[in-house]
Amino acid sequence: ERLVDAGAAGEDQAIEAALRPKNLGEFVGQERVREQLDLVLRAARQRGATADHVLLSGAPGLGKTTLSMIIAAEMGAPIRITSGPAIQHAGDLAAILSSLAEGEVLFLDEIHRMSRPAEEMLYMAMEDFRVDVVVGKGPGATAIPLELPPFTLVGATTRAGLLPPPLRDRFGFTGHMDFYEPAELERVLHRSAQLLDVEIEPDGAAEIAGRSRGTPRIANRLLRRVRDYAQVKADGVITRSIAETALGVYEVDGRGLDRLDRAVLGALLKLFGGGPVGLSTLSVAVGEERETVEEVAEPFLVREGLLARTPRGRVATPAAWEHLGLRPPQNAGG
Ligand code: ATP
Repeated sequence: ERLVDAGAAGEDQAIEAALRPKNLGEFVGQERVREQLDLVLRAARQRGATADHVLLSGAPGLGKTTLSMIIAAEMGAPIRITSGPAIQHAGDLAAILSSLAEGEVLFLDEIHRMSRPAEEMLYMAMEDFRVDVVVGKGPGATAIPLELPPFTLVGATTRAGLLPPPLRDRFGFTGHMDFYEPAELERVLHRSAQLLDVEIEPDGAAEIAGRSRGTPRIANRLLRRVRDYAQVKADGVITRSIAETALGVYEVDGRGLDRLDRAVLGALLKLFGGGPVGLSTLSVAVGEERETVEEVAEPFLVREGLLARTPRGRVATPAAWEHLGLRPPQNAGG
């Protein structure tokens, strides 16, 4: 498990739940989405209606689950949480839909990974609050229409572009979640520190925020590791130097790169003069699978402007040389 992985795998569920903002006012950042959603929800409440279906797109760990829970809370409605991969058959979806209470929020994470038949059932459910349940097989099969109570679907996906247009079009509102600015992550950290009853200095929060890859989940995770360090090795207060030293121990550097990221970048610079070099060669050089380098390390390096993917191979940018404290060779290709 990587400390800087934005996914929820292996996360302490109880702590994640405790740190979740409970209403729109507590939700840090994402100003535009928050403002738009606030209008959607207020208007629905005024009309005494169920809120429109909401699609949230964005990278893992940016707060899509949190926002879906807030939507339910703001509407005073219960919430059911499931995910695309958990819905194998249309029947699975029918069972969930038919057991929803009126106004309930159905959160469907990774909605782009739902099976095709389930997806088609969802179209009708979203539009007409009705599903056709097919009983029997072959020529004797009959479709029995089933009325559903009005509900609000909140779909989450890493990229809205992954959704088939007919599904995308059935959402009344789409919110795009961006990576957070360091100042926003500092606010997340101060709030979390308070909830965890940890004392954190502004400089300490800034130091952790700068290493959190624009992602609140990572910020909260780093905070917990720094808290451990502050408690065991110092007086419990998180200062800048405590945060620096603690995250040094965990090999998360000043920009949020970890051991794997630096290994990839280091090989690219030191062994291949900054590239271009093919992905396979680079992977062998760092002793990792191709997929690991491509899917785990590279996206963040590209986002940070440290590495570029070109038709001729991977190339380091000048910022990469600078970050690793190395001098680019004369006539460097990058
Ligand atoms: P995934 O897609 O991986 O499930 P997600 O986008 O649903 O991720 P959440 O589970 O909602 O992410 O958020 C991860 C953690 O980050 C939560 O514990 C929450 O406390 C925190 N968090 C997310 N967004 C915010 C925010 N805007 N303000 C404060 N805390 C946040």
